[in-house]
Amino acid sequence: SATIAGVRADLLERFAAREAERFAEANPKSAAAMGGMARDWLAGVPMHWMSDWPMPHLAVIERASGAVIRDIDGHEIDDFCLGDTGSMFGHSPAPVARAIRDQARRGLTYMLPSDAAAEAGRLLSERFGRMRWQIATTATDANRFAIRVARAVTGRPKILVFSGCYHGTVDDVMVELVNGRTQTRAGLLGQVADLAQGAVACEFNDLAGVEAALAAGDVAAILTEPVMTNSCMVLPAPGFHDGLRRLASQYGALLMIDETHTISSGLGGYTGVHGLKPDMFVVGKCVAGGMPTAAWGMTEAVAQRYAGANAARPPGHSGMGTTLSANPMQFACLVANLSGVMTPAAYAKMEKGAARLAVGLARAIARAGAPWHVARVGARVEFICAPEPLRNGTEAGMAHHPRVEAAVHVALLNRGSLIAPFHNMMLVSPVTRRAQIDRLVANFTGVLADLFP
Ligand code: PMP
Repeated sequence: SATIAGVRADLLERFAAREAERFAEANPKSAAAMGGMARDWLAGVPMHWMSDWPMPHLAVIERASGAVIRDIDGHEIDDFCLGDTGSMFGHSPAPVARAIRDQARRGLTYMLPSDAAAEAGRLLSERFGRMRWQIATTATDANRFAIRVARAVTGRPKILVFSGCYHGTVDDVMVELVNGRTQTRAGLLGQVADLAQGAVACEFNDLAGVEAALAAGDVAAILTEPVMTNSCMVLPAPGFHDGLRRLASQYGALLMIDETHTISSGLGGYTGVHGLKPDMFVVGKCVAGGMPTAAWGMTEAVAQRYAGANAARPPGHSGMGTTLSANPMQFACLVANLSGVMTPAAYAKMEKGAARLAVGLARAIARAGAPWHVARVGARVEFICAPEPLRNGTEAGMAHHPRVEAAVHVALLNRGSLIAPFHNMMLVSPVTRRAQIDRLVANFTGVLADLFP
């Protein structure tokens, strides 16, 4: 009979139905609470991504601490999603929670810096390399502002991105390669501009393609994650990052590295661990321990060009900044997280746990004879429903099997392990216990035994 990612389709259907039923039975309070939300929230959810979770209905959360999340039906769930990286260092890390309590007594937003701003800036440079920094509230905004600066200082229109990438809801780079041509992404809602005017898409790991695009002379910057993490994970081929750096310099484009997810790599993110040399740098999500905060920066050389462009523009809106950004809560949390949470010791634990998880998952895949594999960048682990490591976004797109992934996801949740939606991602925080990792491996092994009898 027909198979999907090696799983018999009829068997998958029955398995998914059984797991959906089990979920519904176990979560009556969440079902009722979601029913109560249905009247006032658009499409029944407060943020429309939430409707992409593959469960029959969402679990409603009562509280979370460490790497455990508790829903209103009383389930204590091992959380390997961790807010899709926002809580990568665990929920409410103690130093961050303390900083929030202290700052809460002294005001939440001033549009003036607090005395912690100097220390936050120093720590950003210490962790991520010396840059001229700015604070934004989301990584989306950070990328948007960084793109603006890249265009302003180079006087060029296009941002080179990799097909299948994601850098937040930044319209400017919502393009993809279709039959070798850059096009606006099909799913983008309400966009009327032809985004190929301001962006060019290449395949990841294709330096010849990158060079051909740069040779047109209209590329302001290459914007990339060090590892593609927003489809199925794609690791850089040896020499790829060196090549990007060399080609960017050769063709007068800036190299912008988005570390929002690959901050899982270790201290300083992938850039720090592997010695990348970006001109611009973006990080968000967990950088302030879960408080909505992003930081973006540029080298001193780019900062000088920025000063020139900024001085030359007529007065009026620059298109950068938002009112609540660089608020004192962000500085307090940045200092607490960068100094007391995002430490070498924390990364050592994450690395060890993630290695254990990756080995366990790979063993389960081998035992089941599934045509799948495991990929990892530091604390970030994925099982991928394709036999071989992926080379680019097109391959990553084809490796997605939503029905298989959804069934596995719900089955793992029924057994007490929550993984991330959209991609089969599992994060290991410094407070994730070994027993939680072993439980996830056991649950995954059991699920594969059912899917590959
Ligand atoms: N950059 C990357 C690499 C991301 O994965 C994401 C979000 N998944 C963003 C930027 C945007 O982050 P946010 O949604 O917090 O703005």
